[in-house]
Amino acid sequence: MNFDFTDEQVMLKKTMKKFVREVLEPAIEEQGHDKPLSKEFILSMMKELKPFGLLSTTIPEEQGGAGMDTMTWALMYEELPGELSGYAGISPNVARSIAHGGSDYHKEKFLPGLLAGDKIACSANTEPNVGSDTSGMQTTAYLDGDHWVINGTKTFITNGNHADYISVTVQFDKSKGGKGLGTILIDREETPVESRRIELMGLKTGDLAELYFDNVRVPKENLLVPEGEGLVKNLKGYHAWRCFVAAKATTIAEKALEYSLKYVNEREQFGKKIGSFQLVQEMLADMKTEIDASRLLTYRALDMVNKGKHCRVETSMAKQFATEMAIRVTSKAIQIHGAYGLTSEFPLERLFRNARILTIPEGTTQIQKLVIGRELTGLNAIRK
Ligand SMILES: Cc1cc2nc3c(=O)[nH]c(=O)nc-3n(C[C@H](O)[C@H](O)[C@H](O)COP(=O)(O)OP(=O)(O)OC[C@H]3O[C@@H](n4cnc5c(N)ncnc54)[C@H](O)[C@@H]3O)c2cc1C
Repeated sequence: MNFDFTDEQVMLKKTMKKFVREVLEPAIEEQGHDKPLSKEFILSMMKELKPFGLLSTTIPEEQGGAGMDTMTWALMYEELPGELSGYAGISPNVARSIAHGGSDYHKEKFLPGLLAGDKIACSANTEPNVGSDTSGMQTTAYLDGDHWVINGTKTFITNGNHADYISVTVQFDKSKGGKGLGTILIDREETPVESRRIELMGLKTGDLAELYFDNVRVPKENLLVPEGEGLVKNLKGYHAWRCFVAAKATTIAEKALEYSLKYVNEREQFGKKIGSFQLVQEMLADMKTEIDASRLLTYRALDMVNKGKHCRVETSMAKQFATEMAIRVTSKAIQIHGAYGLTSEFPLERLFRNARILTIPEGTTQIQKLVIGRELTGLNAIRK
């Protein structure tokens, strides 16, 4: 294992960090952290990310992409403010799936807008009755002349209200279960899809939606992943995304530590800085240790994803440890700030609320543990 990043990776990460501190964070601060960002603002932010290659990431240069590897992408992505992580994560990921698996028609139709930062995409899998068990999706699609007809509901979809393009996983043949799944691309200008906003306890600047497909008709050629390949493609995509969520959780925890270190050097009780008390130092030491452990797990998993190695255990360990860790660390940061940490005048309670969310998407903590258990024992807790 070698985490000596290349000079270029170090430079890109440093530049990204500076840009986030000087440009993105102040812009978001102005919008407010606890209300939805407007589509206009999001698109302006996406355009800011374009020169960094964050919209075109691993797409080859000859297709108009940045041609970077997954590790470089993750190193920059983890610097992004949490407020942008859904938009700047999912949308480019849909672009990647089109660039890597789409036809010339898909690439011509969907890629230019996504790569320019003019369009936003979402990826719709979860349904009201189908969460962790992705093989049970019930949204159906059948062919009627030159169109697919889609019926069903998708829920908790990141970017779902603002998205111009929807990549939706559908069931072509219910009798085949997970083997009947595939993916269809929807251009909402051509095919309107109704949606409603879902409010969460945190990540309030984000856009989470329920999408309604009621005899939605989509041109036949918009089929991206044919029947039978949908589940495998989804599961493959999870490996990198689990690391990205782990990286985001680690960044949130690191922010909480940063605020805490500043505070313990300012706040005085009993005539001394609270940072001089051993029990406060213990909390700080635990926070730092857990953050570093998460980062190392995440980088190792990313390194394996990057090299195309078998990495189910490593990506699941990174995801479950880092996201649970972020809850513990942000909670300790609140403790260190005393009552002030509980107020919305300080950022800690927001970091805690944001961290709390991350144990659910991209496979819950329990699902990650089942993946690890299955790989260790060779026994599947869910299926025969
Ligand atoms: C912020 C956020 C963003 C999201 N973005 C998207 C998106 O862009 N696209 C999308 O398609 N979905 C998205 N989701 C949905 C997410 O993928 C699901 O919430 C997740 O897969 C879990 O499904 P569920 O919420 O229905 O929980 P369920 O699957 O119903 O699970 C409920 C509880 O049961 C546990 N459980 C389930 N099965 C087992 C088992 N076999 N053994 C032990 N415990 C089990 C779970 O761990 C959990 O604790 C997002 C969710 C959130 C919170």
